[in-house]
Amino acid sequence: MSNEPVGEATQHTPGSIPHFRNGEVAWWWRARGGFPARRTSLPGPEEADVCIVGAGYTGLWTAYYLKGARPDLRVVVLEAAFAGFGASGRNGGWVTAESIGSRDLYARGPSGPAGARALEAALRDTVDEIGQVCAAESIDCDFAAGGRLTVATTPAQLARLRSALDGARAWGDGEDVVSFLSGPQLAERVSIAGALGGMFWPHSARIQPASLAAGLADAAQRRGVVIYEATPVTEILPGGASGGAFGNASAVARTVFGDVRARTVLRCTEGFTARLPGAHRALLPMNSSMVVTEPLSDAAWQEIGWNGLETLSDEAHAYIYAQRTADGRIAIGGRGVPYRYGSAVDDRGETSPATVEALRMILGRLFPAAATAGLEHAWSGVLGVPRDWCAAVHYDAASGLGWAGGYSGHGVLAANLAGRTLTDLVTGEKSGLTTLPWVGHRSRSWEPEPARWTGVHGLYALYRTADRLESRPESGTRATAARVLGRVGDLISGIPH
Ligand SMILES: Cc1cc2nc3c(=O)[nH]c(=O)nc-3n(C[C@H](O)[C@H](O)[C@H](O)COP(=O)(O)OP(=O)(O)OC[C@H]3O[C@@H](n4cnc5c(N)ncnc54)[C@H](O)[C@@H]3O)c2cc1C
Repeated sequence: MSNEPVGEATQHTPGSIPHFRNGEVAWWWRARGGFPARRTSLPGPEEADVCIVGAGYTGLWTAYYLKGARPDLRVVVLEAAFAGFGASGRNGGWVTAESIGSRDLYARGPSGPAGARALEAALRDTVDEIGQVCAAESIDCDFAAGGRLTVATTPAQLARLRSALDGARAWGDGEDVVSFLSGPQLAERVSIAGALGGMFWPHSARIQPASLAAGLADAAQRRGVVIYEATPVTEILPGGASGGAFGNASAVARTVFGDVRARTVLRCTEGFTARLPGAHRALLPMNSSMVVTEPLSDAAWQEIGWNGLETLSDEAHAYIYAQRTADGRIAIGGRGVPYRYGSAVDDRGETSPATVEALRMILGRLFPAAATAGLEHAWSGVLGVPRDWCAAVHYDAASGLGWAGGYSGHGVLAANLAGRTLTDLVTGEKSGLTTLPWVGHRSRSWEPEPARWTGVHGLYALYRTADRLESRPESGTRATAARVLGRVGDLISGIPH
């Protein structure tokens, strides 16, 4: 480990914690004792069979499985900062099999509703796959398969949960996929102030995100994958477009240190994709922000419960997500500033004091026993959202280019399935994965600025207003207004519900 900073830390001192930190990528790295020792940069021009751009979960899982399937291939990963620097080292640690985007859109693919169901089943199976690899590779990332809870704290949220349950049953999901919890049933698992009920999905696990990213990078290396860090790729060129000595067939990943020429170049840069030439409007870099408390007292945990270690969210339009960490803290996240003009990305994850305060208020509201706990760290990161919110895996053998991402906030688990799918596509293995409906799925581009900024900020303003109205539903007019605003938000965004 090294304690090398990735930029200057900014310190604020909310509450009683003098060592509160803001930014520095994420608390998850601090909890591990600092950033990993830096791997070397690309030493100069190179040739490879497969070049992967980006060492987050998508790039690392793909490299790991590719080397497992074809040990003879030279697989090179080029990472702008260090393995796990992006969302993969900053997220909420939900390994969730939640379906991404709209099952109706996937069902419009050639395999119809059966294809959409197959994708959902493959996502559910992936929880065990990740657990098994972590065990086999001795990746100690606090993996705990406790399932996932969504709680309703207003009548409107409860109505949305009931309608989601009806939708799930109509789709064919039984109790083995999702079940409803009454207020008292929920309280047996976790005590949330004002909770009216909840839903439980068994196919979900909690992890320490940075530990998974770091452990996965080491596991890929043990299989023979070469990872170069501090090596930003400035351009990706298809096979045939670049000419040159390695032959017309090679695609190129261009860096200031030289080109990597390879039969296949895979773009695994999710929330950072907009920075690459030609991809500016493909995936919107959506911000998400988190805070973590100091360890809570035994008395507080006695009151809260949460012994099943379920990942947890609420059913607000601008929802929060949380986990109980292995060392007895609460890590909680939400949208904060949702998007920066021109798809800009803040590298260090510094988070506005207003967002930190908003998360602290929500924490105290949901968990009164944690209301006075000091916050130790706040940070943010970017995830990739396609215009239709549906994730995709692409590979074109002719150009040698491929990519996966657009998980819209559910990439921790989906990146594993995407990595296995890219492996089969690149190696030409005709498997059940290569026909899943997210393979080749296309979404239209995001609008140019200023429409993009206005749309995303307008959307979250609507959602927050709807949530505020729903929290004081005494008058029928307020409840109706909240419903209308929420629906308008869904229509503007194209977020499928
Ligand atoms: C705060 C936060 C909380 C989240 N919580 C959850 C959660 O609980 N559950 C869940 O399922 N999902 C969650 N997500 C989303 C999830 O973390 C991501 O979808 C997932 O990690 C994406 O993995 P990735 O490898 O595709 O991208 P990333 O992890 O972002 O990795 C991309 C990598 O590419 C590198 N890179 C970018 N551009 C270049 C370039 N030009 N050249 C070389 N390298 C480059 C970056 O440095 C980065 O390391 C969260 C995201 C955030 C930000």
